[in-house]
Amino acid sequence: MMPARRPNVLMILTDDHAAHALSCYGSRINTTPHLDRIAAGGMRFDNCFCTNSICAPSRASILTGTYPHVHGVTTLCPPFDNRLETFPKVLQRHGYRTALFGKWHLGEGPEHRPTGFDDWAVLPGQGRYFNPIFLEPGADGEETRGVKRGYVTDVITDLALDWLRGRDAQQPFCLLVHHKAPHRPWLPDERHAHLYLDETVPEPETLLDDYRNRGAAAAAAHMRVGVHMTMRDLKCEVPVEFPEDELRRFAYQRYIKDYLRVVASVDDNVGRLLDYLDEAGLAEDTVVVYSSDQGFFLGDHGWYDKRFMYEESLRMPFLVRYPREVAAGTVNGDIVTNVDFAPLFLDLAGIPAPAGMQGRSFRPLLRGETPADWPQAMYYRYWAHNTPSHHVHAHYGIRTRAFKLIYYYGVGSDLPDANGEPTPPEWELFDLRTDPRELNNVYHDPAYAAVVRELTAALERLQREVGDTPVGPSTGAGT
Ligand code: CA
Repeated sequence: MMPARRPNVLMILTDDHAAHALSCYGSRINTTPHLDRIAAGGMRFDNCFCTNSICAPSRASILTGTYPHVHGVTTLCPPFDNRLETFPKVLQRHGYRTALFGKWHLGEGPEHRPTGFDDWAVLPGQGRYFNPIFLEPGADGEETRGVKRGYVTDVITDLALDWLRGRDAQQPFCLLVHHKAPHRPWLPDERHAHLYLDETVPEPETLLDDYRNRGAAAAAAHMRVGVHMTMRDLKCEVPVEFPEDELRRFAYQRYIKDYLRVVASVDDNVGRLLDYLDEAGLAEDTVVVYSSDQGFFLGDHGWYDKRFMYEESLRMPFLVRYPREVAAGTVNGDIVTNVDFAPLFLDLAGIPAPAGMQGRSFRPLLRGETPADWPQAMYYRYWAHNTPSHHVHAHYGIRTRAFKLIYYYGVGSDLPDANGEPTPPEWELFDLRTDPRELNNVYHDPAYAAVVRELTAALERLQREVGDTPVGPSTGAGT
């Protein structure tokens, strides 16, 4: 049965915006008044996780409702096959007007450009912060390229607002606003450049992490604030003569201030979209979602970037406002993932998810009802093994409410950005109840032997269920 009224869908998706840089998630370092409006008017999800913490794979999972080994975008390298089913395509077939503005990052050219959108304009590759180039569909089926003057977050919002103003009001819409911000190299606009100038931003507890009591992967990663940054990141010479602790503290201030300035512009522009929905009388009938393709290390563990299954990078902010169905100011702690977004959007439009989608609609959670059989665990896999840029070891794992088990399987695949030198396989287990910062690997602690056995079996089961394949000697391990 179709609902009497089909809601509009507005998804604002940013790039690398960690939940702990939104004040509605309890940020200690910034305020995001407009993003907080979404939380205050709707529901905040505290355990929304990505299934592979890197841009393109997460974006493909959001669109298709499938895991990377299914949609094929396992790393940044394989482009997206735009013949795959996506939620915008299904909505379009059911009478929605669909549009995408901003970051695509899933390949260019006829086989990879956006499909399922009536209107689109996207940044080529990562795009740039100032006077960005946009690709748009041309009359002859080719893409046209043109510069749009201004700051990228403002320009993308302008495109979205122009489209909203010009649309046919009789038709429900699905609008995806995909910001480049706050992705590296964190270039703020003039309006926000003055923020934090005379302040010291609080440091995260783990900024000076020494990577003890964990496997070898953490210390091996080339993601340390200062140590692995460039002049482009810091906008000044990197003071390589500093001892590492001092370098991290210095670089953290440089980095985090720019990151937060870029976030402040996102927040303002979210406010512009929310204001428009209010003025146009659309707020009641529009599902507004704010999320980011993954989390990010904001100096946590001494790092920037993402990739690891550790909390700061695994967790996605997810705010949803839909006054007809979601009580204002509510919070949900159930586990949901980026694979579940597509089925959710379709469900809200009254459309069953196509059989190929692996995720599950969490619409009942929006109403405050958790089904008895709701998943108690999620599956994660990072594929880009030990690449020269970041040296993060490939891994897969399972996260439950209480524990996280990670297996670094030590080998890459044949993709050019996933085939770094092999590393010795290793396991990590974290007890999130007593060690939420994930500083103490208890995998080899005899007190956790039963937990290791149970979680290893659960990981193998979950891996089979989603159709992924174990690598190396993991099967039947757990000792
Ligand atoms: Ca990203």
